[in-house]
Amino acid sequence: MPTETFEFQVEARQLLQMMIHSIYSNKDVFLRELVSNASDALDKLRLEALRDDSLGADVSDLHIALDADPQDRTLTVRDNGIGMSRDEVVELIGTIANSGTASFLRELKEAGDTATTDGLIGQFGVGFYASFMVADEVTLLTRRAGESEGTRWTSSGEGTYTVETVADAPQGTAIVLRLKPEDTEDQLYDYTSPWKLREIVKRYSDFITWPIRMATRPAGEPAEQADDAAESGDAAAPEVETLNSMKALWARSRDEVTDDEYHELYKHISHDWTDPLETIRLQAEGTFEYQALLFIPSHAPQDLFLQGYKRGVQLYVKRVFIMDDCEALMPSYLRFVKGVVDAQDLSLNVSREILQQDRQIQLMHRRLAKKVLSTVKDMMTAHPERYATFWREFGRVLKEGLLGDPENRDSILGVSSFATTHDKDQPTTLAQYAERMKDGQEHIYYLTGESRQAVENSPHMEAFQARGIEVLLLTDPVDEVWVDTRPEFGGRQFRSVAKGEVDLGTAEEKEQEGSEREKQQEEYAALLGWMAGHLTEHVKQVRLSSRLTVSPACIVSDTHDVTPALENLYRAMGQEIPHPKRILELNPKHPLVTALNRTHTERPDDTAVGETAELLHSLALLAEGGELPDPARFVKLTADRLERSL
Ligand code: ADP
Repeated sequence: MPTETFEFQVEARQLLQMMIHSIYSNKDVFLRELVSNASDALDKLRLEALRDDSLGADVSDLHIALDADPQDRTLTVRDNGIGMSRDEVVELIGTIANSGTASFLRELKEAGDTATTDGLIGQFGVGFYASFMVADEVTLLTRRAGESEGTRWTSSGEGTYTVETVADAPQGTAIVLRLKPEDTEDQLYDYTSPWKLREIVKRYSDFITWPIRMATRPAGEPAEQADDAAESGDAAAPEVETLNSMKALWARSRDEVTDDEYHELYKHISHDWTDPLETIRLQAEGTFEYQALLFIPSHAPQDLFLQGYKRGVQLYVKRVFIMDDCEALMPSYLRFVKGVVDAQDLSLNVSREILQQDRQIQLMHRRLAKKVLSTVKDMMTAHPERYATFWREFGRVLKEGLLGDPENRDSILGVSSFATTHDKDQPTTLAQYAERMKDGQEHIYYLTGESRQAVENSPHMEAFQARGIEVLLLTDPVDEVWVDTRPEFGGRQFRSVAKGEVDLGTAEEKEQEGSEREKQQEEYAALLGWMAGHLTEHVKQVRLSSRLTVSPACIVSDTHDVTPALENLYRAMGQEIPHPKRILELNPKHPLVTALNRTHTERPDDTAVGETAELLHSLALLAEGGELPDPARFVKLTADRLERSL
């Protein structure tokens, strides 16, 4: 096949432009990225060779090699791992698969200062493209294990790249960077210096489980001769040193490992460039022995809520990498957790299907979930700011566990926070809510809805506002679903302020209200009965309200009925559920309601009576953000009324 020239995909081109113009301040990380890819390629080859005897790949000395040539100013990062086919090169290197790329690039363009750009790139991670921060031309020579021909890919990062098939490529991948002219101001940028390379590998890649070797060649000798010399064991052979300790961090005791080392492992696993929020260690001894090193990231990935988001941690068996995204090890609501689990007693051939059914794995899964939740709990008290970040980034996902994981529901509620009428900015925990509960208040009150504003201004809140009773404002779609399971926390039930009867105040107040209520019931009995008949298509009952102080009317659900929002949610998921009629409540002290009652007694057949009843129902629906049964009729009736008032 002749040399072909391709164009980078648009997003890839934009990203490369940014790399070329080096907007990221810490250029050293390009090497971490290349070594990380090489290490993955070695993992993949070992696995494939394990599963497929006919692969015919040499797995006897899997390693990564760095080769610097100060004369030519090139740096080569080589692995003898899985390699890539020609199609894979075009697919994997010419495009960016991440679905959040477009929005990420937009944000990046808007960000002016280095700190923000660094932060954004850090969250995204740019992998192989980081090479273009330090090189003005990159050549990648690769041959996939099991294939006979190799592929050479070359680009200066400016719009296009070339691809050609080559006959004699060694198995694996070699990436040759033609380094940009040395920055004379800053010697730190000499990536051909053995000292510098040693330092970078030690800092970022020490834990990589494959040897990272570097040949320090005698000065003046060209690269190829040195390679030959290395192979022939010539006396003038360069000295080959292994730069990394290869120690699995999860197998070492806590005091042997620095936080930075943990963080670099996290970055290798997650492809995230920012430090994690929390590092969690777990060692299980006994019949089923394993070590886990888990990380809670400091920000949510862009695709966390998209279908097909890969969840789970890496599984190792006795230090051998087995699989990425092992979903059997983490519940879905903890899918943001990254890390490594190394189990001693599993077969190297273990499959995803077997893992799903394995009892020991299920026990491990439960233990890991509990450990993550207890870590978050500790974080709440020990590092409130960190917890606030955690909740902002992952609260929505975690709440899915209130449905999916009944066993841990209490712990999840215990580490959850909610927007509240008590504070405009700071969310509250349930423990804090409980401390502020009024004397005689039995329940945890909440209201669900689309936005904080809609919920806060809902008529359902009026009596609660008037009495200074705190209400949780639940506006995530998942909130509708878990509150519907009628949870309890600390022996207190969750109660929607838009459901059932409201029964607030002290015993004394209630007694007083009771007698007043009896009087009102008598006064309104005829109207309520008549209205229930008149609106029977829409409501199952019309009654007097004890939750309204300002509005004339509101709509409420029976305690155990599904709310309209939940109904919509189920419909959107394709589930048909019955449409329960709701209850219309009238405020007996509102002038519109008293006037309606009077008119109804005096002139029961007046059309204004029927129309006002309909309008009250519509207003109640609108106030809670609901939909009207007949919007056109509502507009006509309102317009007529307005006209008459002028
Ligand atoms: P990421 O590593 O985040 O997926 P990269 O741009 O660094 O993104 O790499 C894209 C893909 O190219 C990798 O996922 C991998 O499939 C492939 N790749 C990169 N480097 C190598 C390598 N040294 N050997 C084999 N495949 C590689």
